Amino acid sequence: MKKVTTVCPYCGAGCKLNLVVDNGKIIRAEGANGATNQGELCLKGYYGWDFLNDTKLLTPRLTQPMIRRERGGKFEAVSWDEAIQYTAKRLSEIKAKYGPRSIMTTGSSRGTGNETNFVMQKFVRAVIGSNNVDCCARVCHGPSVAGLRQTLGNGAMSISIEGIEKSNCLLVFGYNCADSHPIVARRVVKARENGAKIIVCDPRKIETARIADQHLQLKNGSNMALVNAFIYTLIEENLYDKEYVAKYTEGFNGLWDEVKDYAPEQVEEITGVAASDIRQAMRTYAAAPSAVIMWGMGVTQFGQGTEVVKGLSTVATLTGNLGREGAGVAPVRGQNNVQGGCDMGVLPDLFPGYQKVTDPVAREKFAKAWGIDPESMDKEEGVRITQVPHLALEGKIKAYYIMGEDPLQTEADLSLVRKGIEALDFLVVQDIFMTKTAEQADVILPATSWGEHGGVFTCADRGFQRFEKAIEPQYNVKRDWEIISLIATEMGYPMHYENNQQIWDELRELCPLYYGATYEKMEGLGHVQWPCPTLDHPGTPYLYKNNEFATPSGKAQLFATAWRAPAEIPSSDYPLVLCTVREVGHYSCRSMTGNCAALKALADEPGFVQIHPSDAKVLGVEDQQLVWVESRRGKVITRVNFNERINPGAVYMTYQWWIGACNELTQDNLDPTSKTPETKYCAVKVSAV
Ligand code: SF4
Repeated sequence: MKKVTTVCPYCGAGCKLNLVVDNGKIIRAEGANGATNQGELCLKGYYGWDFLNDTKLLTPRLTQPMIRRERGGKFEAVSWDEAIQYTAKRLSEIKAKYGPRSIMTTGSSRGTGNETNFVMQKFVRAVIGSNNVDCCARVCHGPSVAGLRQTLGNGAMSISIEGIEKSNCLLVFGYNCADSHPIVARRVVKARENGAKIIVCDPRKIETARIADQHLQLKNGSNMALVNAFIYTLIEENLYDKEYVAKYTEGFNGLWDEVKDYAPEQVEEITGVAASDIRQAMRTYAAAPSAVIMWGMGVTQFGQGTEVVKGLSTVATLTGNLGREGAGVAPVRGQNNVQGGCDMGVLPDLFPGYQKVTDPVAREKFAKAWGIDPESMDKEEGVRITQVPHLALEGKIKAYYIMGEDPLQTEADLSLVRKGIEALDFLVVQDIFMTKTAEQADVILPATSWGEHGGVFTCADRGFQRFEKAIEPQYNVKRDWEIISLIATEMGYPMHYENNQQIWDELRELCPLYYGATYEKMEGLGHVQWPCPTLDHPGTPYLYKNNEFATPSGKAQLFATAWRAPAEIPSSDYPLVLCTVREVGHYSCRSMTGNCAALKALADEPGFVQIHPSDAKVLGVEDQQLVWVESRRGKVITRVNFNERINPGAVYMTYQWWIGACNELTQDNLDPTSKTPETKYCAVKVSAV
């Protein structure tokens, strides 16, 4: 029997755990003393490992390479050599015929690790010759990255998860931490126990609202109006830090013009929040010696997501709540390695380490390291994953190489995504389970899973942590980066790595932000937060010390803009708002957690729609009754779940189920900056079956 200390693969909290292995099988998980969890785990951490032992519960594990030579035909098991040669040949043919930009790829924010994401973006940039690589950050925290890079310079949480409980005030906006990151929620509870004030802004009475001093139950889709009213109040009531603003910021002069029509009294109707509550919230926030704003996808998954992020950053900046312990901005990233996907440059506009692909100096550096001509690199930004269905239907994207993502379940407007996938000439899926997307593939490349390989994840607070291999893979599978390297080599670009550390050392050399974060340092400290620029640097628990911002001018940028209504507002035909939410016991498209017996037992009902009893009464439906939920794009059957903690006029569904899949209903109105879809808001109707 042995214990392997590793990192949980299920959310950005980055909890450390011990996998207890007996006779080549994992028999249990125990909490380990990590920087973010200090021995605690949630249900997914304790019970989310047995898919590695038994894959017969829900979805078949991918156990060997497969090719489907004709659409609609059967998968044929093939050797690795044949799968690699076939994939390389088809990709080379498509590149030759339609150009490098006709091929799209994804990194993965799940159990693959940073090294694999680095190798994937290198493959795209050095071998394919485009910047067409993206990751699931696009559909979740893309606006946090875009917004915070513009206002403060770094698209990441400025504080540590550990530091949350050291704050005197937490403004929790559109973020249900109890379901999304249960161990982060523990930090919020501890902050409360330490005397912090808690202000929750959310249409639902989420768990955190139970311990809050104030709950601003705003209407769905009114975020920007509320944030503008916050900024208005800070300025009008002289609650902002004038000296700080004068010294460290830019943009104050135009700010009042943007918010002057958003007095709390003027936005009561848009937001549904009493003016006195808005004013009180800002008085509490501004009076706190240190305050943190935490947010989730209730902020980002809107057509105005980036602007709201910039507005929240402005609230923090106006009050000088940056650059010290317990004060900052905290977009808490969802999937376990979504921060790492961005860090490693599986983004269409950025090389690893947040270096712009449009910068000739950066291109020259990467080209030299990779032994290619800088002129062969694409000088323009690549395609975002949310643009792929449209571009495939226009004939501009011909091939899609998807690693560790399941767009046919997790992306908005599935009928559109399906049509886009069908229009492709070639679809490669590299995954561990037969997902909905894998079922449509031309080639399936089976990979090792978390537990079967090691590497580095970045948790939501920029902390690099090494995760470890616990068991030998049982099947004919390969590590993700090994598969990509074999395809690259077959396409004429020799790519050989012996191990993860070789890849990590290559990327450290290319990224000043991470240079000092060596494997050895992670081994010693456990959790090394970037920036870590030198070998003797301990890492950075909070950003913007001394109020030095990473913007071009070195100053924080202030921002506000007019509120816009969501794209599809309710009508007489579709009178309810649909908002997507998470199921606490399951992760992402549920392929991993749905194959874990305890988690499956916890939540095994395929989908539900949460309805307030007052709406149900008008609709004439009962609790647990089967109903149709229908939008302008699709219709799904699911079961009613009465819920008095949600707001009347809105219904809530999770995206994690194949039956009652709410992404059949959602729409892809994209935030213009980040291209993140407005999955938190569309119009639906509910009717009895
Ligand atoms: Fe895993 Fe997140 Fe739960 Fe921690 S909070 S145990 S990282 S799912």
